[in-house]
Amino acid sequence: MSDCIFCKIISNKVEASFIYRGVNCSAFMDIHPMTPGHLLIVPNRHSERFVDVNPNDAAEMFKLAQDSLIAIKKTTILCDGANIFLSDGAVAGQEVLHSHLHVAPRFIGDGQKVGFMNDDPDQANRFELDEFAKQISGFLNSSLKE
Ligand code: 5GP
Ligand code: ZN
Repeated sequence: MSDCIFCKIISNKVEASFIYRGVNCSAFMDIHPMTPGHLLIVPNRHSERFVDVNPNDAAEMFKLAQDSLIAIKKTTILCDGANIFLSDGAVAGQEVLHSHLHVAPRFIGDGQKVGFMNDDPDQANRFELDEFAKQISGFLNSSLKE
C-alpha cells in the first residue's frame, strides 16, 4: 500500500535497520524501542488485520520470532525474557495499519510493564467459560480439529 510506512520500509523507500529480509516476511528494529533490541516482524504483503495475513506468512512470522530470540540471546542485548505480542485493531492499540509482531527483550529492572489496565481480573464462572468455548470451537476451521 503506497501510504503505509511498513510497505515503504519493505520496498526500501524508507530507511530501517533490518535483521531479516525473506520472500514472505521481514524483520527490522523498532524505531521507538520499548527496550533495547525491540524488533518488528512483518509480512511483506500488506494486511491491516491479523486474520487477513496469509496463514503461511503468519506461521513464518512466529518462527522468525523464535529464531530472533535465539539470536538475541547470543548478542550483548540484555534478555532475561521477552514479550512477543501483536496489537490487532485500534482498540487493541494498533497504530501502524500493517499487521506486525513485536519482539521486545526484557530484563530485570528494565522499567517496562506490559498488560491490561486491570491486571487482576476476577475468575470467570465455568458456565460462561464453557459457553464461550462452545461458541468459538463451533466456528473453528474444521481443518484444526482433524
Ligand atoms: P503498534 O502500536 O502499531 O503495534 O506498533 C507500531 C510500532 O511501529 C511502534 O512500536 C513504533 O515505534 C513502530 N514504528 C512506527 N513507525 C516506524 C518507522 O518508521 N520505522 C520503524 N522501524 N518503526 C516504526
Ligand atoms: Zn503495508
